[in-house]
Amino acid sequence: MQHDHDIIIVGGGMVGAALAARVGHAGFSVGLVEKGAEPSEPCGDYDLRISSLNARSLAFVKASGTALPEERSCPFRHIDVANQDGTGHALFSAADSGMDDFGIFIENRALQYALWQRLAQLPSVTCYTHCAPLSTIAATSARQLELDNGQTLSAPMVVGADGARSTLRELAQISVESYDYHQRAMIINVETELPQQDVSWQVFTPTGPIAMLPLPGHRASLVWYDHEDATRAREAMDNATLKTAIEGAFPRRLGNITRVVARASFPIKRQHAKRYIGKRLALIGDAAHVVHPLAGQGLNIGLHDADTLAEIVIQGRDPGDYLNLLRFECQRRAANQAMIAATDSFHHLFTGAKPLRQLGDLSLQLAERFPFAKRMMMQQANGLNPFKMR
Ligand SMILES: Cc1cc2nc3c(=O)[nH]c(=O)nc-3n(C[C@H](O)[C@H](O)[C@H](O)COP(=O)(O)OP(=O)(O)OC[C@H]3O[C@@H](n4cnc5c(N)ncnc54)[C@H](O)[C@@H]3O)c2cc1C
Repeated sequence: MQHDHDIIIVGGGMVGAALAARVGHAGFSVGLVEKGAEPSEPCGDYDLRISSLNARSLAFVKASGTALPEERSCPFRHIDVANQDGTGHALFSAADSGMDDFGIFIENRALQYALWQRLAQLPSVTCYTHCAPLSTIAATSARQLELDNGQTLSAPMVVGADGARSTLRELAQISVESYDYHQRAMIINVETELPQQDVSWQVFTPTGPIAMLPLPGHRASLVWYDHEDATRAREAMDNATLKTAIEGAFPRRLGNITRVVARASFPIKRQHAKRYIGKRLALIGDAAHVVHPLAGQGLNIGLHDADTLAEIVIQGRDPGDYLNLLRFECQRRAANQAMIAATDSFHHLFTGAKPLRQLGDLSLQLAERFPFAKRMMMQQANGLNPFKMR
């Protein structure tokens, strides 16, 4: 039976575009369906949405031949985690795990643009923009998608990479479990007196963590997790008042804050699809899971989903075959569930009642004292097998 593509991916965000680029680079025919426009080249100031890419994610993106813009990304070599009163502290250095760096921080839009640039070079990839699926039907050897622009496409496998409010997930009648942390993350881009120092700082406070993430030059991205009301109050502040509030709460790692450049806030939720697969269908990225962003792992585990699925396609197996889909679900659900549990426990350990917070402090002290435990934690956070000896 003739199909339009070997694989159709719904959603051209960072995860969907990365899968399209990897599979397209290997010569497979890909249809990428995106409801928005093709991303435009980032210019001007750094965007508020930035993400860390760990070692496995970077290797996966680079394996598709995608060139990342060095001028809009920033490698980081240390992660400094502490609690507010100084009773718990751990410094993780990439060198301790035999790595040059932990990965990079990059603007979401810069990564997405770089991936779409790569897609434009790949003759086996077709991007369908400004359209979305209206309905879908699965047959024995293929799944068909009816799009809202009147087109119908079919492929042996359709992948939903269309984000937390996935239409494809809804059309496949896959439900989710969700949890509201009743917190918001306020992201604030600031200009700093001192240049970035290859360090990502995180301080746990009883109301939520605060983080200072490096951007190139004299810039940093602050993430301030707090209760909804407290965040709303900060959102209402003018830049001068907000700057004073930041100076009162954040450690002065990079000297004074010289300017508040931009800010926005996002609700913090956890969500997990009850199934990642359906007949000739798989969900990846935020369509499958949304984790607390405090460990900077949401995009990373989405890219690891894409990596696992790409491997199945590239090995030449029928990717939509039930057993291959099941293999994907088993591997990825276990890893993602572990990440959800880890980020959830971090949240509750450091923002819970005092005994829980003391346990959190103890975990940092143990990590600092036992290099082996520290190394294992870092390998895990990098998407690498912590039990594999170098
Ligand atoms: C405050 C905050 C900080 C974060 N920091 C980090 C970090 O440091 N590191 C990290 O790894 N993760 C981080 N994350 C998580 C990360 O941002 C997400 O996991 C990631 O953006 C998910 O990518 P995605 O491609 O799966 O989904 P999305 O980025 O949501 O992309 C979905 C795409 O699908 C398209 N689409 C939607 N509906 C349809 C439809 N019906 N038809 C066709 N197309 C459709 C959309 O237009 C979009 O292009 C953070 C999240 C938050 C909230």
